Amino acid sequence: MKTASREVSAVSLVQEALDKAHQYQKDYHIFNFINDVEALKKAAAIDEKIKNGEPAGRLAGVPYALKDNFLSPEGGTTASAHILEEFTSPVTATSVKKLEEEGAIMIGRTNLDAFAHGSSTENSYYGPTRNSKDLERVAGGSSGGSAVAVALGIVPFATGSDTGGSIRQPASFNGVYGLKPTYGAISRYGVVAMASSTDCVGFFTQNVDDMDLLMQITAGQDANDLTTLPDFYGKETGFDDPIKKIGVIKDFDNDAVAPEIRAALARKVEELKAAGHEIVYLDMPALKYALAAYYIIVPAEVASNLSRHDGIRYGFRSEESGDLASLYKNTRNEGFMPENKRRIMIGNFVLSSGFYDAYYLKAAKARTMIVDEYRKAFEKCDFILTPVSPNPAFKLGEKVNDPVAMYLEDLMSVSLNLAGVPGLAIPVGETKEGLSLGLQLVGPRRSDQALLRFAKQIAGEGEPEEDHHIDIMGGND
Ligand code: GLN
Repeated sequence: MKTASREVSAVSLVQEALDKAHQYQKDYHIFNFINDVEALKKAAAIDEKIKNGEPAGRLAGVPYALKDNFLSPEGGTTASAHILEEFTSPVTATSVKKLEEEGAIMIGRTNLDAFAHGSSTENSYYGPTRNSKDLERVAGGSSGGSAVAVALGIVPFATGSDTGGSIRQPASFNGVYGLKPTYGAISRYGVVAMASSTDCVGFFTQNVDDMDLLMQITAGQDANDLTTLPDFYGKETGFDDPIKKIGVIKDFDNDAVAPEIRAALARKVEELKAAGHEIVYLDMPALKYALAAYYIIVPAEVASNLSRHDGIRYGFRSEESGDLASLYKNTRNEGFMPENKRRIMIGNFVLSSGFYDAYYLKAAKARTMIVDEYRKAFEKCDFILTPVSPNPAFKLGEKVNDPVAMYLEDLMSVSLNLAGVPGLAIPVGETKEGLSLGLQLVGPRRSDQALLRFAKQIAGEGEPEEDHHIDIMGGND
């Protein structure tokens, strides 16, 4: 990505990004906030450093977009939820701090499904973000705004959070790279908690090298997040052989998956074979429990994490607040979106005495099986290649009133979060209608850099950034 230098000023990079942000905002609704004033001030400060010959950082003057569930005092953090509308955070997320220490400049906060609950960005209190390829279609979600900001070239990178697919699915719906790292690779401190045992911070980029740089900058142990792993990024071993064994999950190749996605996978498999890699077909029967287990474990954690929003400490408070109980009730009733409430109810139900064993405990056991299934799979192969989602971007309004249809979007993404393994969404061309297609490359825990290196190897990178779409569907036109 282009950094500021004596030749290219940070102010010009940031101004260009701000101009594009405003230009696209009306049609696509990408941002909840555009950081016009502060971003230019910061850019001027970077230019001053460069002029004085001081180090300005590895991301000097690089404009970026921040998913609006990352805390920082700039612009407030709404998580696209009414209940956080008036909230300005006193703290800054560790990941944001690390990016800004390297000179990156936040030019806007991006739209998401409220509290990151969803797969389309339609659950946002502020209305949906539109797909970068087709204004009638969803951006994907929950990090829809971030994916579209990178896809339209407003910024070279954007942050995301991935609890069950929220980076990978919108990346694949918009033709960009999206990484969900190993659980615990990047600190979650300062990111609005959704489900603490599966939440991951990650990024959207237009190429693999940028992703690698962002990981180098942000990965690492953090005393403010005790689930962060001891530093491992870049220290992976055991992936030196350029010829890899690539797993393909048999069960994911079925009629529920759109023909163009199956064709994209088949084409990629042929390319890999032609390049000398070995394909290993995997039976992973425990993965059939992943979606059900996810939609028990995640709501249980959501119910707990959202209990802090009571109208007392943060943001919005209902006008209809007589006694304390009605203040809580009305604030939560008016402040949460229907999908938030659904998850709070499901979560409290599965944790309630009498139902705990039947739901939560059973889901926890299924999760253990899934963790074990991935462990066994990675004894047979180096990486696994799967679709990201069963279909390309769907129409706005198509699934938003049918929660089960929306949850089914996450069929092939959630098992990674339950197992804590990394996954990279890779753009692999377009459908006949011009919609983006993506595949997902999955690795064992702590293989993140090796995964990126292999993605680069098979994507034929090193080509101009504009050419990052690999037109594997070309022959079908
Ligand atoms: N679509 C999934 C859900 O609704 C994932 C969301 C996420 O990763 N934040 O739970």
